[in-house]
Amino acid sequence: MSISVFSVLSAMDLVLNVADYYVLTPYVYPESWLEDGTLRQIISLLVLTNLGAAVLYLGLGAISYYFVFDHKLMKHPHFLENQVQREIKYAMTSLPIISIPTVALFFAEVRGYSKLYDNVSDSPLGWSGLFLSMISFLFFTDMCIYWIHRFLHHKSIYKLFHKAHHIWKIPTPFASHAFHPLDGFMQGVPYHIYPFFFPLHKVLYLALYIFVNIWTISIHDGDYRVPGALTSVVNGAAHHTDHHLFFEYNYGQYFTLWDRLGGSYRHPSPLMGKGPHDVIRKLEAEGKLGSDGKANGNVRNGVTCKEE
Ligand SMILES: [Zn+2]
Ligand SMILES: [Zn+2]
Repeated sequence: MSISVFSVLSAMDLVLNVADYYVLTPYVYPESWLEDGTLRQIISLLVLTNLGAAVLYLGLGAISYYFVFDHKLMKHPHFLENQVQREIKYAMTSLPIISIPTVALFFAEVRGYSKLYDNVSDSPLGWSGLFLSMISFLFFTDMCIYWIHRFLHHKSIYKLFHKAHHIWKIPTPFASHAFHPLDGFMQGVPYHIYPFFFPLHKVLYLALYIFVNIWTISIHDGDYRVPGALTSVVNGAAHHTDHHLFFEYNYGQYFTLWDRLGGSYRHPSPLMGKGPHDVIRKLEAEGKLGSDGKANGNVRNGVTCKEE
């Protein structure tokens, strides 16, 4: 559930070089502004980061919303009025604020402080080094996000930052990046700091971030299917839906590992015939959904969901 939308631009010098070469140097900046000037680099990073974040969030979110998200979920009593518009508005207001500290990290990367490398030959283990770094990236970020996310649920700070993401009890793909700015930045930090601690191939970094963005959206897409054998290992939309509904369970990102170690694992209700679709079917059978498909009157109060 972390904000990873910026991270696709993380191998920032690659992105910046391409933007400089094709657009910024010939068409945008005056000749006197050198490509490696501090102010120019910061402005370019801010613009590219915001553009990239908006395109990724809205683009991948829309694909998932139209082709994966089951629109029947909007009949659920806990689905809010104008929820999709509100999710998008909240995310698009937060992303520019989150981009400011994020650009500070990208700037350090562009200035060569990270351990990112360009060629497979730079990896001491060759291709197997790339494979190992992929595994270590996933486990490192999964572990960090688990603990950051759990910390954000601590009762002394929950209402200040993370509660905003839990307004959406039946999330859509557009809830994936709808966070308070500080919450979003904190949950994105693991992705940004990894290459400062561990060597990583730049192109692999880009690929991992595209994957991470798709994953973040996918755990909010309402598609609860998980291949049988993976149900207990992979943290999918079914697990994350229970996190939105019941709060203190399934804090993980890709795996259930840390929830199991931390005692917060909950077998997903959608996989036990007690999920949002089952609630909707039951209400329909009882005639408690109005002609517009919305829940009548006090139905919401009778539907299981932990109010914080
Ligand atoms: Zn979420
Ligand atoms: Zn949470």
